[in-house]
Amino acid sequence: RQRDADARRLEPAVTRDGHAVEVAANLGDAGEALQAVELGAEGVGLLRTELVFMSHAQAPGQATQETEYRRVLDALDGRPLVVRTLDVGGDKPLAYLPMPAEENPFLGVRGIRLSLQRPDIFEVQLRALLASAQDRPLRIMFPMVGGMEEWRMARAMVDRLLLEMPVADLQVGIMVEVPSAALIAPVLAREVDFFSIGTNDLTQYTLAIDRGHPTLSGQADGLHPAVLRLIDMTVRAAHAEGKWVGVCGELAADQLAVPLLLGLGVDELSVSARSIALVKARVRELAFAECQALAQQALALPGAHEVRAFVTEHC
Ligand code: PEP
Ligand code: MG
Repeated sequence: RQRDADARRLEPAVTRDGHAVEVAANLGDAGEALQAVELGAEGVGLLRTELVFMSHAQAPGQATQETEYRRVLDALDGRPLVVRTLDVGGDKPLAYLPMPAEENPFLGVRGIRLSLQRPDIFEVQLRALLASAQDRPLRIMFPMVGGMEEWRMARAMVDRLLLEMPVADLQVGIMVEVPSAALIAPVLAREVDFFSIGTNDLTQYTLAIDRGHPTLSGQADGLHPAVLRLIDMTVRAAHAEGKWVGVCGELAADQLAVPLLLGLGVDELSVSARSIALVKARVRELAFAECQALAQQALALPGAHEVRAFVTEHC
């Protein structure tokens, strides 16, 4: 199966009934971009920029960051790049960013909350991103956005910088990984250019299970109907406003999840580069109309076990 999938890795992912879904790569390192393209990536759906920050003893300046972002855009050769702004916080400390200890770091100053508290660091990152784009397709997204105010403050910073450094092909969106964002998706969708659903955190926060918990993390299954319902709400809200939705959490590479995500209307799946060929192969086995019916039925099931059994039985 892997060999057949590998042979077709550079072809698009289209269902038997002609529905195309974009398959992109999650990258943790700018150096991986070229390899991702060779493995079939149609773009980068999530560039985790933490590494750029964690690999330095001091906050990396604009020039250092620009070099990294340029490398990815060069490797992508016109394919879209979705970059996530710095997503560190209590659980991922940076030596040059002293932060008070928190009892619940996952509920603390993480992601966009930190960037808004440190506009100096945030602005340098945004400047580096805008400067690296030139006329290439750049999408910027903010992690851990929980509501409208955070989105508007972050977006305002981008807009202010755009006055000095315009970018021809830019979209600005958010990660949907906090349940409150999914629940107000109809409001957010009017203003964002796109959503990218981070199922790792969305599952953790919806089910109240620490994603790294030594005994409970196995139960943090993104196929729980509660998570699927949030994904459904997010996609419906986005499409009603003509915006696109990706999924960039681990769930996107799960062979049982792919038919459901497709059926819910997700437009892009972003997975680790080594999973791309198999995700594309999975899409080609499916019929979109059947996935839509399957997804609607899955939403009504009581738990993740039932969803997994149901999908296994039906496709
Ligand atoms: C997620 O939360 O699903 C995600 C993609 O981001 P990370 O795993 O980096 O938190
Ligand atoms: Mg996350």
